[in-house]
Amino acid sequence: MAVSYRHWIHKYILREEPGPILSESILQRIWFESLVRNPLSTLHGEKISLNHPGFWNHRAGPDFLRASFSTADGSLHEGDVEIHRHSSDWHAHRHSDNPLYQKVSLHVFWQLDPTSPPSPSSICQIALADQLAAPLTELISLFQSSTPEMTSGEKPGRCRQTLLSLPPDKLREILEEAGWHRLRQRRSLAQARVAAHGFDQSAWIALAEGLGFSENREPFASLARAVPIQHLLELSDSTSREAILYGAAGFLPDPTRTPCSPRAQGLIQRLWDKWWEFRELWRDRILPSSCWRLGGTRPNNSPLRRLAALSFMAEPEVWNPWLESVRKGNAEDFFAQLKAVSHPFWNQHSAWNGRILSAPSRLVGLDRATALLFHILAPLAEICEKDLMQRMVAWPIGGDAGMLRSACLRLLGVPFPPPDIRSHLAREGLLQIYRDFCRGEADACRDCSMPDFLKHR
Ligand code: SF4
Repeated sequence: MAVSYRHWIHKYILREEPGPILSESILQRIWFESLVRNPLSTLHGEKISLNHPGFWNHRAGPDFLRASFSTADGSLHEGDVEIHRHSSDWHAHRHSDNPLYQKVSLHVFWQLDPTSPPSPSSICQIALADQLAAPLTELISLFQSSTPEMTSGEKPGRCRQTLLSLPPDKLREILEEAGWHRLRQRRSLAQARVAAHGFDQSAWIALAEGLGFSENREPFASLARAVPIQHLLELSDSTSREAILYGAAGFLPDPTRTPCSPRAQGLIQRLWDKWWEFRELWRDRILPSSCWRLGGTRPNNSPLRRLAALSFMAEPEVWNPWLESVRKGNAEDFFAQLKAVSHPFWNQHSAWNGRILSAPSRLVGLDRATALLFHILAPLAEICEKDLMQRMVAWPIGGDAGMLRSACLRLLGVPFPPPDIRSHLAREGLLQIYRDFCRGEADACRDCSMPDFLKHR
């Protein structure tokens, strides 16, 4: 019997046991996603409830900044989080001598190393080994490789000839199998998130990630965690929702200090006045400016415009029917809501400077809305796989065009999939193989097991 894509990935790319493959970055991702039991037990048997995992810090210092948690007596604590594979790494890395680590209040690791001296008693120690919210192998499989960056000069790789020499139906079969693997992984992650945060909040995080694009996926997800949808829905007016999102993102200029364009002046002043009513409440949830990637995005895809889209979607009369479309797997309603997203200022601007875009542009373009079908609706829809497959045939084609181009160039030597393998699943499969095997790395072909997999097929 032919070996399946999933089987091959588990055998050659993943491992069953947490060996070297359980890297610190996987533990960090698990923490970022809060896919842990809540409350968590410390090594001393205390229970702590995690309110916010903190903001991922990619610079020197602790892994997460400003996490917030409550102890069993109800008191609220805030502090940084350091994550290691081994508990002994705290001392091995000499963190106690480093002033950057003075605010660490949670030391999180996989397992206790019984021979290592404990970290300082002021720091809660948490071993994650028995406290995950989903099976470890599933989590490793989900987070094992980061999404590759788009590569502008991608070159054909080692398996191109073999792939192109396959009969079209065989090639399509392999790609669609990889596509199903991708979809199932997304559904697994969605299930783990729903179990940890509930359906509404999981959809909110997925929407924020999708609007963040690959450059700002992480800060958008951080923002959605910092400002849960439930809080926004309870507010009585849209200005408050918008003010909290822009304020917590750190995107609101102070109109008393920053000269504003007359076009933006009214909007900024309105949001700023509202933000001042809430600011103290949200102070510890404001994202550090260092987490945003603001340069290099096209004006139409500016995070400020994406945030306007997120804010529009948080209106109860928009959010509730849209969420229902996700739950029911209704692509038509899902798409219609996203196409209707608009904002009187941001439809025509990409920044606060008042410069007008060359043409008014949708806050969520058609290509992005199509990509969101796969990022949000397909993983979260409460329908069976067979039903999902039948519905997907009628979905519009598109989404993730840049990444698909890179994958096609690498795997097939052409910028677009050939016409006979243009199904949704085949497109998803190309993206998954690119992520699992090529990883956007020029030298990944050298030790790649994909050519062997193709031989086995
Ligand atoms: S890295 Fe592997 S899958 Fe990617 S092109 Fe090279 S041989 Fe093929």
